[in-house]
Parts: sequence; structure tokens; C-alpha cells
Amino acid sequence: MSTTMTFKCPCCGGYLEFDPAQQKFKCLYCGQVLSQSDLIEESEKREAEAEAAQEEQTRSFTDKKLRGYHCQMCGAEIVTEETTAATRCYFCHSPVVLHDRLDDEFRPDGVIPFQLDKETAEKTFMDYISKKKFVDRGFFNGAQLEMFSGVYYPWWYADIEGEGVFSGEGTRSSVMTTATHIITTTRVFSVERKGRLSFRNMARKALMKADGKLSDGIHPYDVSAVKPYASGYLSGFLAEMRDVPEAGAKEEMIREAQNYAASMMKGNHSFNSLSGSASFTPTQVKTRYVLLPAWVLTYKGGKDGAPYYYMMNGQTGRVCGKLPIDKKRVLATALGVGLAVFLLLCGGGAFIW
Ligand SMILES: [Zn+2]
Ligand SMILES: [Zn+2]
Repeated sequence: MSTTMTFKCPCCGGYLEFDPAQQKFKCLYCGQVLSQSDLIEESEKREAEAEAAQEEQTRSFTDKKLRGYHCQMCGAEIVTEETTAATRCYFCHSPVVLHDRLDDEFRPDGVIPFQLDKETAEKTFMDYISKKKFVDRGFFNGAQLEMFSGVYYPWWYADIEGEGVFSGEGTRSSVMTTATHIITTTRVFSVERKGRLSFRNMARKALMKADGKLSDGIHPYDVSAVKPYASGYLSGFLAEMRDVPEAGAKEEMIREAQNYAASMMKGNHSFNSLSGSASFTPTQVKTRYVLLPAWVLTYKGGKDGAPYYYMMNGQTGRVCGKLPIDKKRVLATALGVGLAVFLLLCGGGAFIW
């Protein structure tokens, strides 16, 4: 059995949730609002308590893979997936943060708290699907808004600095026409380029099961708003812990930086042709593990029961969705769209349709 945290109201004992509209804790029973400094203080207190409780248990009981938890409000056992880090009790619906999944090496460095609340997410979604001409009207009804969840997803970020070197050959040709000849002169230059390059805020998803295309679609996030991690931000939301190790993510981001560096060093020149090889050696790599907010709607639709998804960036409102397309509507409009059953539709307010 592992340790859980529930944030309780000091006035009535009800549970506290993070409220995106006020950026504060809110009690759903008595309406009490606690400040952000209370939130951080309370987070530290709860984390210390959870840690003490954990130390009392033998190490074998705190295996991160163990799935059972007890709700502090009603005592019910909560069963979760291996990567769940915050959820709700099935019985009393109180928000639960699974402390042991976010401690030690799994403690996030930062979090972007939700800025947009559920109401805004629902409204944006309704606007979004009403503007999509080819979306199957029958696919969605109001009741499904119930399934809208606010989820914190784990991401790796990296800042990479390093030295780029290019070595190769460039050519410049000129053509001269005389009465009897056309003379082409080609001059060949040896080209050496060298420079310090830095890449900021490169991002990689840190949860394997997360849909990469969909979550890339709601990027970017404004990372200047990243706050130091405090567990209180998670109260009332779902959260996933990372299952992608730092080393793997780091390696991929370095490779990506190397590709960018190579194309930068081979580009932007005044030769007619330039060939050669570029290399990039990182001198400093800083990684951060950050939780990012997203409103997510998963809906099983169509005759085959295939899942459709809709995601909204919980900070900026950028949306991305995979929605069922009504084939008849597409045909009736006689556009060369083809018989796509669904399309991936992303955008930051300016939609294609
Ligand atoms: Zn209260
Ligand atoms: Zn409960």
C-alpha cells in the first residue's frame, strides 16, 4: 500500500481543489479560498507527512509499481494505472494525489498550473466542433462533456549549448559570352564554419502511452510560466507520471539539436553550391521534468467504436482533435478531400474549415 495526499479545508474538512480561474485553492463545500502561498505551504506539509508515513512502511511495500491506495476521506481502496499520479476516489470523488509516484527522482522540477477551467474548455470545444463543416453531427451530445478531464502530462525539456563545425567545399560560377565562345568560370572554395549554438526549451513527451501527434498539436506552452513543483496544483485534476527515462529523452533531444545545427550550418550561404559535413558537439545540456496541463475528451464513436480525441492546451487554449467526419457531407460538397474517415484538425483559433 502506498501513500496518498488529500488537501483538506481548514474550516470544514472538505476537500480543496486548485482553481484555475483564481490560481488558488478552493473548498467546494464551504467556498473557502486559500492563497497560493497557502497552497505551497500546504503542499510541503502534506508531502512531509506522506514521506513520514512512507518511511514507517517497509521498503517492499513502497514499490512504485504497487497499485493500491487508500482514500483519506472515505477509506476506499483506489486502484490506478501504473503511471497515474493524481486522480479522484471512485466512491467519494475527492481528489487524491499519489505522493510516492512523484517523489525522489520522479519529483517534477516544475509545473504549469491550469489557466483555463473546465467551463472554458467545454465552450471552446463546442465552438470548435460547430465550425467543422464535415464533422458528423450525431457524434457528440452534451452528456459527453461529463467526460472532459483536466490532465497534467509529463514532459522533458532541455536547453542545449554546443559547438558547431562545418567543413566542405563551395563553388561560384560565372558565365561570360564573347563573339566566339561562352566561357564558364567555376571557382572552388574551401569552406570552414564554426560557431556556438544554443537551443532553448526543446520538448519531448515523457509518457509513452500519450498520443504524440495529438499532444504535439497543442504545443507550444509558454514555459516562462513554469512554477516550481508543488503537489497542491494537482488537487482536483488527473496527473500522469513519466515513464520515459531522462537519458533516453536527452539523447533524442541532442540528436534533434544536431540535425538543426547541421541544417543551419549548411544553409544561408552565398555559393552556388555547398557540400561538406557538419558536426555539433554539445558542451552543456540541462534537462527539466515538467507537468503540462491539458483538457482532454476521449469519445468512443462510430459503428466500430473507434476512439476519437480532443485536446486543449490548459494554458493557451490551443486545440487539437481527431474527430469523426461525415462522409456524405464531404461528398455533397464535392471537394477533393477524399474519403477520409477522420482527420487530425489542429489550430490556435484559425481553423482551415
Ligand atoms: Zn471548507
Ligand atoms: Zn474516497
